[in-house]
Amino acid sequence: MSESVHFSTKLIKKTVAVDPQTGAANVPVYLSSTFHQKDFDHFGKYDYTRSGNPTRDALEEAIASLEGGTRGFAFASGMAAISTAFLLLSAGDHAVVPKNVYGGTFRILTQVLGRFGIDHTFVDTTNLEEVEKAIRPNTKVIYVETPSNPTLRVTDIQAIVQLAKAHRCLTFVDNTFMTPVFQRPLDLGADLVLHSATKFISGHSDVVAGLAVAASKEIADKIYFLQNALGAVLGVQDSWLLLRGLKTLDVRIRKSAESAQRIAEFFAARPEVKRVFYPGLADHPGAALHAEQASSGGAVLSFELKNEASARAFVNHVKLPVFAVSLGAVESILSYPPKMSHAELNEEEREKAGIGSGLLRLSVGLEDAEDLIRDFSEAFVYVKDREQVTVRSER
Ligand SMILES: *Cc1c(COP(=O)(O)O)cnc(C)c1O
Repeated sequence: MSESVHFSTKLIKKTVAVDPQTGAANVPVYLSSTFHQKDFDHFGKYDYTRSGNPTRDALEEAIASLEGGTRGFAFASGMAAISTAFLLLSAGDHAVVPKNVYGGTFRILTQVLGRFGIDHTFVDTTNLEEVEKAIRPNTKVIYVETPSNPTLRVTDIQAIVQLAKAHRCLTFVDNTFMTPVFQRPLDLGADLVLHSATKFISGHSDVVAGLAVAASKEIADKIYFLQNALGAVLGVQDSWLLLRGLKTLDVRIRKSAESAQRIAEFFAARPEVKRVFYPGLADHPGAALHAEQASSGGAVLSFELKNEASARAFVNHVKLPVFAVSLGAVESILSYPPKMSHAELNEEEREKAGIGSGLLRLSVGLEDAEDLIRDFSEAFVYVKDREQVTVRSER
């Protein structure tokens, strides 16, 4: 397809594959674990679904094209994709990883990979000096997640790639928050892009899935070997659901991001809000850098209220968002990181990571932004009351 085609056109071209046999406008769900071989000596393209399946292939080809890579891979979850990627490393190897990396990635590094001799150092990846200092002769990977969760800190992908190349390391980027609609790490020189496709790519809170896209054939071959060897492949029906979700990714995430920008500005102007974390706000410390490497602030933001009581009052009085873990869906999702994604940190560790006891994270869905803002305004009335009650009882 011509390079000049817009992303939204490419998205549809790649996800609506007409079936050559029947003309069906959608890829059939090939619910078959095995495939008949017509020739005793020469087997066909497919033999066993762990190794390859036409429905999963369509999804893998779509994500590879959208991220601008050589080959894509669909896994049973984001963590299956991330864990498989880390198994490119061997005993004695080392990875440099962000301090505020996704909790599941933290867990696999600290509690599993270490047992097999794969070592890691946690650093602030927004500080390039700190990253460089952590690189050792046995470092094989620098891992990036930008913007980070839940404080939306921005890491310079190109600068990390340069550092990595100078030290003969690979760069892996978890692109879950931005998706290829807004940020394409392979174009910036990264070697592997990872996704929790459970989030924006599925978009409907109905599938758990992971995706990986390799820049080079060399890495793609290794990931394919591991995917088949470990077997954490995405199921056929879920592959189809993900293709379906992917078709509307562009319109969904753009609409949500537009609303997120308005909501971030609304929060920034509210006296109840101590801080707003959103890379689309001009006063966000990573705003300029983010604007260079991504085309939107995205659909996730965090905001800090005075304390836990304020956060509780707010959550108890909003009517539109669901209160839940996860993000990237048609419905807005409000979560409380201190008791959800970051519950394993103690209070001191949380404060250090910038996760105050009043911090809430909002993944903006497809409700009308004005309705969401009205809902939040109404909930703030109770936040004020709660603070007044606290003050009174202290007297
Ligand atoms: C959710 C998430 C993951 C893990 O993905 P699962 O699909 O839940 O296994 C990894 N990285 C980020 C940034 C996430 O938000």
